[in-house]
Amino acid sequence: MNHTVYNFGAGPAMLPHAVLEQVQAELLDWHGRGISVMEMSHRGADYMRIVAEAEQDLRDLLQIPGNYKVLFLQGGATLQFAMVPMNLLRGHTRASYVQTGVWSEKAIAEAGRFATVEVAASNTDRQARVVPRQSEWRVSADTAYVHITGNETIGGLEFDFVPELGGIPLVSDASSHILSKPMDVSRFGLIYAGAQKNIGPAGLTLVIVREDLVGHAPAGTATMLDYAVHAQEGSMHNTPPTFAIYVAGLVFKWLNGLGGLDKIAEINARKAACLYAGIDDSGGFYTNAIEHRNRSRMNVPFTLHDAALDKAFLSAADTQGFLQLKGHRLLGGMRASIYNAMPEAGVRALVEFMRDFARRWG
Ligand SMILES: *Cc1c(COP(=O)(O)O)cnc(C)c1O
Repeated sequence: MNHTVYNFGAGPAMLPHAVLEQVQAELLDWHGRGISVMEMSHRGADYMRIVAEAEQDLRDLLQIPGNYKVLFLQGGATLQFAMVPMNLLRGHTRASYVQTGVWSEKAIAEAGRFATVEVAASNTDRQARVVPRQSEWRVSADTAYVHITGNETIGGLEFDFVPELGGIPLVSDASSHILSKPMDVSRFGLIYAGAQKNIGPAGLTLVIVREDLVGHAPAGTATMLDYAVHAQEGSMHNTPPTFAIYVAGLVFKWLNGLGGLDKIAEINARKAACLYAGIDDSGGFYTNAIEHRNRSRMNVPFTLHDAALDKAFLSAADTQGFLQLKGHRLLGGMRASIYNAMPEAGVRALVEFMRDFARRWG
C-alpha cells in the first residue's frame, strides 16, 4: 500500500486500497471474459450476478430484514431529499424533520416543495453543536414520517441514539456514516446514502426501504422517481450505474472479510478517539466544539487557535501527504474525514503531524 499520502477528503472519499487493487487487476478483463465490467450488458448473466452478490453482501453486513428492499439508484442523496417526500407522504400533508446542520437544512428545504415541513427539533440555538435529545422533540401524530440526518458531514455531528417513534416511519440520511457500525435497520422505515463517502464511487445512491412504504407515490409521479418502479424491476428499470455498483460490491466483500460491521466499528472508534484526543490534548492549539456525545466518528472538523495559521497548516500537511484537510467552505477551519477506508496508521500519522505543527507554531 502506498503510504506516501493519506486522503482525508469528505467525498468523494478514499476507497480501500485492496479494493482499488482488485479493480485494477480486473479492469481490462473481468474473470477471463476479456472485457471490463464497464462494457458489460447490465442484463447479462455476469452482471446480474455482480448485482445479486452486491445486494446479498450488503444484506449480510447490515442484517437487512427480508421485508426491506435494497435499491441501487442515481441522483445522489440530494435526489432523495425529493424522492422521500414524493413517495412517503401516503396521503399525509405533513412531514417532520430534525434540524441538526447543513444537510438536514437542505433536506428540509427540498421537502418544503412537497409537504408542510414540521421542524421537530433544532440545534440552531446551540450553534449546531449537539443533537437535540428526543425528549425535546415535538412530533405531530399525523406526520407522514420523521427525517433525521444520522451524521452531519459538514458540522461533524452524529446521532448517539435511534429515536423511538411508535408507528411513525423513521427516515435517515446515512450518507456519511452508513456501514461505519452496525445499524438496526428494522428501526427505520427508510435509509438512504450517496455512495461516495463510505460505500464506493460517486454515481450510486443506496436506498433501503421497508416494503409497506413502497407503492404510495401519487399519480403523476415521474416513473424514475417512484420507488415502486425500482423495487419491482430490481433497480434495472433503466441502465444502473454498473461500474459503481460493482466497486461498491467489492467494498462490501472487503468489509465482510474484515469481520463485518462490529469489527469496523471497533476500528472506527479507535481512530476517532485518537484524533479527538490529539485535538483535546493540544492545549487549545486545536479545537473541536461539538458536544462529546455527538462527536462524529467519521468527519472531524477542527479549528486552529489562530486562523492566520490555516494556510501554513494546509500547505505543510499537503507537502507531507495529508490531503484534503481544508474545512467545508461554509465552516472554514479544517476537517479530517476518517471513513472506513482510512487506516488507523493514517490517523496516527495525522495526529503526529498535528502535534509537530503545534510545537513549531504554538
Ligand atoms: C454528501 C452528502 C449529501 C449529498 O450527497 P450527493 O450524493 O452529493 O447528493 C447529503 N447528505 C449528507 C449527509 C452528505 O454527507
